[in-house]
Amino acid sequence: MDSSIIGKIDKARRYAEEPERVSLTSFRGSFHGDHNTYEVSFDSGVWNCQCHFFDTRGVCSHTMALQRILEGMLDQAEKPAAAV
Ligand SMILES: [Zn+2]
Repeated sequence: MDSSIIGKIDKARRYAEEPERVSLTSFRGSFHGDHNTYEVSFDSGVWNCQCHFFDTRGVCSHTMALQRILEGMLDQAEKPAAAV
């Protein structure tokens, strides 16, 4: 392995410890809940989830769990008001 890639790997390790360097603007994924799997998306600050609870409340356990997982990579303004 050449020395330049070794330097990049070291830098990647350091970056991985600093998630605040990342600002996620959009993503989409499948969330495997206890009873079902739901498509969850985030686009320009707007969350969406296929589950019934999200339909009625605009927030749900899936979006709140993702906010915790991605903490530091989402701006405060991008979190639904109901989340704490
Ligand atoms: Zn949901």
